[in-house]
Amino acid sequence: MYQLKVKANFSAAHAVRFKNGCVEPLHGHNWKLVVCVSSETLNDCAMVVDFEELKKLIDELVLSKLDHANLNDIPSFSGNATCEAVAKWIYDELESPVAKTRDGIKLESVTLWEAQDCCVAYSTKK
Ligand SMILES: [Zn+2]
Repeated sequence: MYQLKVKANFSAAHAVRFKNGCVEPLHGHNWKLVVCVSSETLNDCAMVVDFEELKKLIDELVLSKLDHANLNDIPSFSGNATCEAVAKWIYDELESPVAKTRDGIKLESVTLWEAQDCCVAYSTKK
């Protein structure tokens, strides 16, 4: 099994709401994202997928919507703009387009760092 990973960065603001109803002041992070795709096989060029092709999908489907955004203004995060919610949203955005790049390729996981030492990994694996 091959696992191929691409890293990306974006800057975005959010204000998380806690269980007791408290809401953080609006603040920004330089989020770091790692997208992992997997395949048992390689394409005709001996690649899982061209790095540039995956980067383009991330640019078009994720960074164009999240970079320099206030995440609280995006309807998908109206529940709460947590790192968990954003990681799952990114996974959902990329899952089908990644699978369409070639037979046998699958989005494995999305790992999203909100801060240098805090991240959430999301995958649909049990
Ligand atoms: Zn934060």
